[in-house]
Amino acid sequence: MVLEKIAESVEKYPLRTAYKVGDKSIIYRELWEKANAKAGQLREEGKGPVILYDTKEIETFTTIVACLLAGRPYVPINRTTPPQRVEEITKAIQTSDIAEDTAYIIFTSGSTGKPNGVPISTENLDNFTQWISVLKPLSEYAGCNVLNQASFSFDLSVADMYYSLCNGHSLIEMDLDAAEEYSGIVPLFAQEKINVAMLTPTFIRLCLLDESFCAEKCTELKCIYSCGELLDKKTARKLLSRFPSLKLINAYGPTEATSAVSGIVITEAMLQDDRPLPVGDMKTNAVDIVIDDGEIVLKGKSVSQGYLGGLNGGFFSENGLQCYRTGDLGYIHEGMLYCTGRKDSQVKYNGYRIGLMDIENNIISIPGILECAVIAKYTENNTVKTIKAFVTAETKALNPAYIRNELSKKIPGYMIPRTIEILDRLPVNQNGKIDRKALAEL
Ligand code: AMP
Repeated sequence: MVLEKIAESVEKYPLRTAYKVGDKSIIYRELWEKANAKAGQLREEGKGPVILYDTKEIETFTTIVACLLAGRPYVPINRTTPPQRVEEITKAIQTSDIAEDTAYIIFTSGSTGKPNGVPISTENLDNFTQWISVLKPLSEYAGCNVLNQASFSFDLSVADMYYSLCNGHSLIEMDLDAAEEYSGIVPLFAQEKINVAMLTPTFIRLCLLDESFCAEKCTELKCIYSCGELLDKKTARKLLSRFPSLKLINAYGPTEATSAVSGIVITEAMLQDDRPLPVGDMKTNAVDIVIDDGEIVLKGKSVSQGYLGGLNGGFFSENGLQCYRTGDLGYIHEGMLYCTGRKDSQVKYNGYRIGLMDIENNIISIPGILECAVIAKYTENNTVKTIKAFVTAETKALNPAYIRNELSKKIPGYMIPRTIEILDRLPVNQNGKIDRKALAEL
């Protein structure tokens, strides 16, 4: 379905820009020709996954479409991933059975210290794309400029990429260098006449720091699709006061269920309500959503068959049904879905998904470290302000700079705790466990 939809876009809008990064762009017809040629090459080269460093280039984008055409899954890897973790990913791919209909595999931070591979099938991707293409108001737009902020290794980009390609829109890339240089971000909205932007709340807050992120300057912006982490009311209010007629969608979902499964347009009444902002309207979900023992559980065609290597992590249903326990706490009220937090120690920090235990396990594996506890500190709006690590070590020679350096060989930079403190011993609570609450106060 996804490939048919892209082919339809090519047929209807051959001369329209499909993808633009900086001053380089490619029109739909050329994208299709190049992707088909590349697909031929990929078929000749063999089978199995294609590792893609997620640089924002026309070549990368073309290769993604080529992989779909050639029936070879692509594996986008963040460019900040250290070689050791890339090696783990490569090994996981080489030693696992990968279903033939896998469209892509995204690796996420889990709890074991090793990245978890999430294979997404073409059926998953078709179901997701069908859903996002009819989600209001996205379904009402034609010939839009859609902004891509996230890297291809973060599944927020799945939303903007497939929404754009399958509906004949133009995907405008947020060049990573421009994104890193803060002053380059907001002018892009006006320069590129962005109509729809798919952003994390962290990124929205970053844009809001610039006074020119407003309806008077970014005149073409009609819709922001916010996804990936908690959208707090303060951020939503500020955004809607700068853009009074903007449609703000709060979308929700994990990588394991193909980017997003629900979304809802935020209204003034929701902002006035005592509850947090809803993350979905139960009438328009991509999958069946139920609350089981306070946990959000997803069932249906967007749900992956399980982690690479046959691991289910306790999250996937064991009987082959497409069912995923998200680990997110939530409830349904008046036909709307609410997400209130996590059952475990997974957090979202600056838009990135991080398992605190993933960091702990990597710190513990450094020779000379005795104990470790990683905790997140929160702002008053319930977003993560910082991540701190507390450790005990065999010798005083193990200082924070050394630990940081060792850690940088194992995990991406965004996962390395801002503060690493060496203590003589970790505080213990009445149950004899590490007193994480006490550590959060330090
Ligand atoms: P990822 O796999 O990186 O997309 O992360 C998925 C997780 O992000 C979910 O399981 C939630 O914990 C969190 N998340 C995603 N969207 C939202 C949202 N709109 N509100 C609150 N948390 C969210």
